[in-house]
Amino acid sequence: MESVKVALRVRPLVKSEIDSGCRSCIERLPNEPQVSIGKNNLSYTFNYVFDENEGQGKVYNLAVKNLIENLFKGYNLTILAYGQTGSGKTYTMGTNYNGEGELGVIPRAVYDIFDIIESRKEDTTFGVTVSFLELYNESLYDLLTDKPREQSIVDMREMNNGICIPGLTELQVQNADNALAILKEGSSGRVVGATAMNAASSRSHAVFTINIKIMNKTNPKDVIASKFHLVDLAGSERSKKTGATGDRFKEGININKGLMVLGNVISQLCDGQHSFINYRDSKLTRLLQDSLGGNSVTLMIACVSPADYNQEESVSTLRYADRAK
Ligand code: ADP
Ligand code: MG
Repeated sequence: MESVKVALRVRPLVKSEIDSGCRSCIERLPNEPQVSIGKNNLSYTFNYVFDENEGQGKVYNLAVKNLIENLFKGYNLTILAYGQTGSGKTYTMGTNYNGEGELGVIPRAVYDIFDIIESRKEDTTFGVTVSFLELYNESLYDLLTDKPREQSIVDMREMNNGICIPGLTELQVQNADNALAILKEGSSGRVVGATAMNAASSRSHAVFTINIKIMNKTNPKDVIASKFHLVDLAGSERSKKTGATGDRFKEGININKGLMVLGNVISQLCDGQHSFINYRDSKLTRLLQDSLGGNSVTLMIACVSPADYNQEESVSTLRYADRAK
């Protein structure tokens, strides 16, 4: 089993890009999951490429759907959306779920998980819980608590077989609609900050986690537990380009450190040569450490804008994602 895969998703030009005369600078090459960018025609290859004509259903059905079964075999699964602010991470993941429009990865995955559970209820007992965290400026915020934001900070501890977050709200869910109502509620509490690059850019990582416990009815000692992290990463743009200063600038630095360490960890996992993986170098990778590598499957969806205006950032995303596979 290949444990890390990378998909590239090129979104369509958005209205503001078309209005300001942007052209697309990314071209998909025929027959292979490969793109070229700009005039120098550097090309990059991934496990999957989705272009501007390919919708949410296609992304899910080709890159995600076949990974879900791993959860029922006891593997942890992590899906990460990477890219600059405005590249389509939240759209792709469906983190801001409100029941409208084309569904993103999270709601589709939730429906599939509960379809599988329904079909196996005869001989299996399932327990499903969800949690929703935001990692912002090196602090973890519990997005599902009733407490005010300043009091919603939680911290993680390393236990012998993984990460544990004392006090984190974990809500039991009975069906897909339950889970999606919680996602909707939690995402409305996510912090957004205005920068010159995007009026409401997300400067934080959002991690929606589904924990599944599977018990065999005839043999109750036969228990499988798995964890599914769905991560909408912070914008990958370098802070100097956003025109950010002060607190916003500090955010930019912290965010980029997490993304940088994540890139290192994933590329270490990919080349398989490393006996020691540097999970500890950032809070993001510490949080995800028991779900990257080892007994887990990872998909990174790298999101890019096709606009020539964003070419420099898109090249940096392509490089980052290329290194991860
Ligand atoms: P990010 O989360 O990376 O900052 P968003 O997901 O908010 O970016 O996307 C930015 C804008 O582009 C949104 O208006 C979103 O609806 C639109 N968009 C992103 N990806 C697509 C897509 N594949 N098809 C259509 N619109 C998209
Ligand atoms: Mg977003």
